[in-house]
Amino acid sequence: LAKDKGKNGFEFFNEQLNQIMSRRMTIENGLQNGLREGQFSLHYQPKVDLKTRQIIGMEALLRWNHPELGEISPVEFIPVAEETGHIIAIGEWVIREACRQNKRWQRKGLPFLPVAVNVSVKQFQNGKLLSYIKRVLHETGMESRYLELEVTESIMQDIHQSSPVLHDLREMKISISIDDFGTGYSSLHIIQKLPVDTIKLDKSFIAEMEEPSQLAFVKSLIALGESLDLAVVAEGVETESQVNKLLDSRCRIGQGYLFSRPVPVDAFEEMMKDTLINREIRKLGT
Ligand code: C2E
Ligand code: MG
Ligand code: MG
Ligand code: MG
Repeated sequence: LAKDKGKNGFEFFNEQLNQIMSRRMTIENGLQNGLREGQFSLHYQPKVDLKTRQIIGMEALLRWNHPELGEISPVEFIPVAEETGHIIAIGEWVIREACRQNKRWQRKGLPFLPVAVNVSVKQFQNGKLLSYIKRVLHETGMESRYLELEVTESIMQDIHQSSPVLHDLREMKISISIDDFGTGYSSLHIIQKLPVDTIKLDKSFIAEMEEPSQLAFVKSLIALGESLDLAVVAEGVETESQVNKLLDSRCRIGQGYLFSRPVPVDAFEEMMKDTLINREIRKLGT
């Protein structure tokens, strides 16, 4: 029997490949159902003023609790959603849910803070992004200036398609961040021409800031942002030493586990209340 002879390399490889393919099938088949059955949720991570430590905004991050596979990372399922086209419906749900929640917080008397939503390039190419956003803003009563979109540098690969959409968003006062800046395809010549407001330095660069050459690189990205009149946000801030180095380099805004992980709605609400209380205390003190 094959079993008695032990597994050879090929059988082993074959088994692993089967596992990978079956997981991928489960994810692919589950996306549509998952949306219908409420398996998706949004977690929120604060954007923080590095000097005052106040929350100045938030990023919505998608979570999927799959009935069989448990929590699946967006790093795994977003690419599948992009390949299969499910990203359009999922992306629309994310925008709607983020706007609804933001408005709920506003109505509760919490600080009015902008929410950033990650948008796939596929959504930009689909042609319906603008009309969908307009409809959601109208239906939720959310004001456009509290909505931000985060896109990756790949948006710059086809500026003929993306540029008009970006300009319309600018007109609507919806601000645009280039996410994971410095990791992908980026033409400085192009970014200068696009109506972009913010660059987000990728967390891999922040993680290596203790190395002098990496620190120099991060500094040059910050200086670049400054010279193009863009806001600069540091992603993945985990240590006080990184905060100091960023402030020294004139980067004022950060996001990262040092301040908070992405957390569910209730936990984020508590964090906002704390910020509110601190603000009132400071007012009383002056
Ligand atoms: P991203 O937009 O660059 O989000 C930042 C990622 O870094 C998040 O991972 C966040 O949890 C993580 N992070 C934040 N602070 C730290 C830190 O201090 N240290 C470390 N090691 N990591 C930190 P997450 O939530 O797993 O999301 C991964 C990626 O999935 C996102 O990267 C984004 O590209 C994509 N994504 C998430 N939600 C959505 C969505 O609604 N739509 C689309 N299209 N993509 C999404
Ligand atoms: Mg992002
Ligand atoms: Mg990022
Ligand atoms: Mg990233």
